[in-house]
Amino acid sequence: MLTKLTFILSLFILTPVFANLRVVTTTEDLRSVTEAIGSEFITVSSISRGTQDPHFVEAKPSYLVAVSRADLIISIGLELESGWLPLLIRGARQPKLMPGEPGCLTVSEAITPIDIQAQANRSQGDVHPLGNPHFMADPERVISVAELISKRLSELDPSHAKNFAENLSNFKAMLQARSAKWKQKLAPYKGIKVIGYHMTFNYLFKYFGFEVIGFLEPKPGIQPTAQHILKLIETVKNQKAKLIVVESFFDPKPGETLAEKTQAKLVLIPAYVGGDDKSKTFIDWMDHIVNELEKNLK
Ligand SMILES: [Zn+2]
Repeated sequence: MLTKLTFILSLFILTPVFANLRVVTTTEDLRSVTEAIGSEFITVSSISRGTQDPHFVEAKPSYLVAVSRADLIISIGLELESGWLPLLIRGARQPKLMPGEPGCLTVSEAITPIDIQAQANRSQGDVHPLGNPHFMADPERVISVAELISKRLSELDPSHAKNFAENLSNFKAMLQARSAKWKQKLAPYKGIKVIGYHMTFNYLFKYFGFEVIGFLEPKPGIQPTAQHILKLIETVKNQKAKLIVVESFFDPKPGETLAEKTQAKLVLIPAYVGGDDKSKTFIDWMDHIVNELEKNLK
């Protein structure tokens, strides 16, 4: 009896229990999609909060600890995180997390970007020369991102590949069903003209057929100036823009001034998943955005 028990016990000790993959994402949009695919088989945390501007994140020591313990770092790419992620990856000193290695996934690989700047230099502001990195506000491109994440999770943990594939297909089905509803809700407003703050919602506007005719930022990453607002007042009046859509973490004042002087309505919406209490997951965030847009267009 005792030998049998010792044998069983030794089996427990010798059989390695596969630990959950530890995933760190740069943004909460990525965290939410990764969570939907990895479910209980991974642990995932995001470096930047949804209330934060991901272009400018301070590379804190606590982030370095999280990155150095990770099996996989998932980032957006197209230089969105170029001011801080390379520092964290270098600081973590983990060969498996270096660019090109299995522990480093840049999801912009999965999509074709818009807004590519033919001639750009940093003196013109944070211009995103490789294309617009804010594609997580596009339900269609998010499906390609989810597919890429599922593939990488399966490569790193083949024992749960079946689960990841199943979660992916559920996520896709849910997103496609919701997307149809979102499109239906905003269909009457196709072709309306809008003003943005930064180029955060260009993919979203394109998805719903809105035409973006100007930005509160005179150049990407450069704060609005009085002179620029004066020009925008003319643009909004002449082109009959309907909405001024501002990311809720930016100063609302320039948008308020523009709304006061024109017929356009100001809408403040969370720029990323986690941007407010109603936007904890990707689907909830999109739901919330669509509701806010529709409310202000009615
Ligand atoms: Zn940007």
